[in-house]
Amino acid sequence: KPDLAERLVDRLRGAPEPSTVRALDEVSLDIGVGEIVGLVGESGCGKSTLGRILAGIMEQSDGDVLWEGQSLATMPARELKAARLAAQMIFQDPMSSLNPRKTVAQAIGEAPVAHGMTRRAEVGELVASLMAKVGLDPSYARRFPHQFSGGQRQRIGIARALAVNPRFLICDESVSALDVSIQAQVLNLFLQLKQDLGLTYLFISHDLGVVKHIADRVVIMYLGRIVESADAEAFFASPNHPYTQALLAEMPNVQQRKRLFQPVKGEIPSPLNPPAGCHFHPRCPHAFDRCRIERPALKAVAPGHLSACHLNDTPPMRGEQHQEGTR
Ligand code: SF4
Ligand code: MG
Repeated sequence: KPDLAERLVDRLRGAPEPSTVRALDEVSLDIGVGEIVGLVGESGCGKSTLGRILAGIMEQSDGDVLWEGQSLATMPARELKAARLAAQMIFQDPMSSLNPRKTVAQAIGEAPVAHGMTRRAEVGELVASLMAKVGLDPSYARRFPHQFSGGQRQRIGIARALAVNPRFLICDESVSALDVSIQAQVLNLFLQLKQDLGLTYLFISHDLGVVKHIADRVVIMYLGRIVESADAEAFFASPNHPYTQALLAEMPNVQQRKRLFQPVKGEIPSPLNPPAGCHFHPRCPHAFDRCRIERPALKAVAPGHLSACHLNDTPPMRGEQHQEGTR
């Protein structure tokens, strides 16, 4: 929602009323089998939208989603159904996705029966094995969601997702509502499941600390665009984009690190009316004229390391500053 005063000013200037939000803008992302991609950004940056599109909960207005090299848009119905089941989403708050009147056994067992993957007579066994797999006592199968703690409910949510044999889990802020110690346990469960079941993850979070714990590769989004993407190791060792550097400077466990500059200052601009040029320029301490006009392309700054910032191709003077460590 744009600020009312802003809209009035725009209207007086004769600017067209923005009617749609471009939640994702030229976003292109490959996720390899067995990879854990951490997708990070502030709220409203489009990361959940991307997750929902991949999970089949939302449809994109433009562009394409490929599953194992094949477009979902042209996939035969049977294969599409299988691909949809193979990609499961795990949300932040399992309480809102679990029916309070259904037992855990019902919650976990309903999808595999509905999809004809398990016979009714065998569903009890399946539920018990899934509960054990996620670290829940199978003897609690007849209990209701409210009888569990937050961490246990998230495990129920995970067991329910696993019940249809997914290969790809999209986790949207899946540990954000949990206490820090419980977060670590659930993250370790995700890692264990990856090992045991060969899963692939898109791990969406606003929290770089969480992503550092789990991700093989980190992708940073800002106002609908990917601004940086790199292997986790390279990412944390030598972040390139000023926005990423600001996010990292805010991470609690790197506070001892020399602060590169002030934490991300200023409001996130409205996605209805994003700034021209580099979307980050109103908040960027390094912004210069070109940033206000020209959109920076996502370019390789090292093998497998992409960043969208004009500083990467500015004249030598800035390059020298760069080497002196001002960036
Ligand atoms: Fe900052 Fe300019 Fe780089 Fe954008 S392109 S991040 S405004 S220096
Ligand atoms: Mg979100």
